[in-house]
Amino acid sequence: MIRCRELVELVTAYLDGVLPAQERERVDLHLAGCDGCTAYLAQIRATIAVLGRAGES
Ligand SMILES: [Zn+2]
Repeated sequence: MIRCRELVELVTAYLDGVLPAQERERVDLHLAGCDGCTAYLAQIRATIAVLGRAGES
């Protein structure tokens, strides 16, 4: 099981879809049992969505 600090380091690659399947599985496992990181991931996703929209204009 990875730690929260490791998840933070992996989350960008995770969202970019460039994380190896094995690593992605470990992130998913961590998220399933960690409300803090689930909220963190949602926050990062929202930020990326905002930045993406800003970049379209
Ligand atoms: Zn966590």
